[in-house]
Amino acid sequence: MNSAIRTFIGLGSNLENPKAQVQQALHELAALPLCQLVAHSSLYATPPVGPQDQPDFINAVACLETHLSPLALLDQLQALEQRHRRRRLRHWGPRTLDLDLLLYGEQTLHQPRLTIPHAHMHSRAFVLVPLDEVATALKQPITLHQQPLNHWVAALNTSDIRRLGDTGVTTTATI
Ligand code: AMP
Repeated sequence: MNSAIRTFIGLGSNLENPKAQVQQALHELAALPLCQLVAHSSLYATPPVGPQDQPDFINAVACLETHLSPLALLDQLQALEQRHRRRRLRHWGPRTLDLDLLLYGEQTLHQPRLTIPHAHMHSRAFVLVPLDEVATALKQPITLHQQPLNHWVAALNTSDIRRLGDTGVTTTATI
């Protein structure tokens, strides 16, 4: 079998007990075929991007090692979203579970269904703050569009991204 690729997944929810949705999704990511959960970030409460008349989100980032191809992994993530009865009422509106494939090894991909690195991640504090937390815990340097991750984090307002005190980074594998 080919060697595993390290990949980072962004999780978000703001409907139907978002904290439980994200915690459940972390367990489901750990159970995906040909994948191993390496670590996940704390959970964060974050204000919505786009329409403001919706609940805050709970966000987190997970690191998986996978033998799935990028598109096979996206298929798994989308099936998982469906299992959470994801409802898309409007663009950037509330959702029970949103899973984004942020990074897949060093690969860049521009396909109709899949852009890697995720197209908006460099400008989203609710993605980069938990990504930075988990990458730091793993001592995993991350470069995004030829710049280190902290270059992008420093450019963002992160003041309204609140780490939930009863959560923390969890590493589940020998790194
Ligand atoms: P969203 O509303 O953010 O969940 O976007 C879902 C759509 O984005 C799906 O049609 C995916 O095929 C597409 N997409 C493109 N790149 C990615 C990515 N890196 N991760 C997840 N979905 C992606």
